[in-house]
Amino acid sequence: MLPLRMKVRAMHVRVADVKKWVGRSERSHLEEPWPAAVAERTGSRLADPGLVDVLVRNTGAALVVEITGTAEVEATCSRCLKPFRLTVPFSAVEEFREEPGPPDEWLGYSRYQADELDLDDVIADAVALAMPMAPVCRPDCRGLCPVCGADRNEIECGCVPEADPRWEALRGLTFEGREGPQNGSR
Ligand SMILES: [Zn+2]
Ligand SMILES: [Zn+2]
Repeated sequence: MLPLRMKVRAMHVRVADVKKWVGRSERSHLEEPWPAAVAERTGSRLADPGLVDVLVRNTGAALVVEITGTAEVEATCSRCLKPFRLTVPFSAVEEFREEPGPPDEWLGYSRYQADELDLDDVIADAVALAMPMAPVCRPDCRGLCPVCGADRNEIECGCVPEADPRWEALRGLTFEGREGPQNGSR
């Protein structure tokens, strides 16, 4: 049999059953390639497959969807600039209502039709939100030497960091023309 070459489609769940009864809930586990939206919104590459646990609850007014998962992201250490694999746990809660219309970010909920929830945007937002601003390869990464650029995790370059020139300027201002603390000058 020829391998099926499938178009990468949205991460989605079927809700034909759960939507019929108020109070009903359904769990599912997705194991699929990450939607393109995740890479777009995080600006990072992610290791496939994407693993996402989904809980759909029918509250009557809407389907409330809770997602949790973990993304393996190809990150760059903000201190030593080395690439490393960063584990990013994420979660989100989103409300879906069955109604026609395009996605509308001002609504406060998502729309769905045809018994299927498209979770791409919810997942992409959740992963992007969970990404640290300045990832570090390990908590005690010593980073690059600001003087010679050596990786201080690997070598002891022995450089003495220069004082910040902005502080130098301040010091000049503070002490210029003074012989020390001023006493009784008022
Ligand atoms: Zn590092
Ligand atoms: Zn150095």
